[in-house]
Amino acid sequence: MNLIKKTMNYKILLFLITTVLFRPDTSKKVETYVYICKGGGKKFHLNKDCRGLKKCNRKIEKVTITRAKNIGRSLCKYEN
Ligand SMILES: [Zn+2]
Repeated sequence: MNLIKKTMNYKILLFLITTVLFRPDTSKKVETYVYICKGGGKKFHLNKDCRGLKKCNRKIEKVTITRAKNIGRSLCKYEN
């Protein structure tokens, strides 16, 4: 009797663990990545091959769109 109870509990626990760990996470939003020129400027680019980015002679950094906006960047005029 006790053993059956233990097995039941184990199965429930296992079920709970798998449900929590492997459920599809729909709350997680997908971030858009953009490109910024580290040299300066106030723009970010959706396309890495954007002609606005071609002028950049510094490091090009890939950041999330949220991050780009937080540091005061706005979408470049070519892609607007
Ligand atoms: Zn651009």
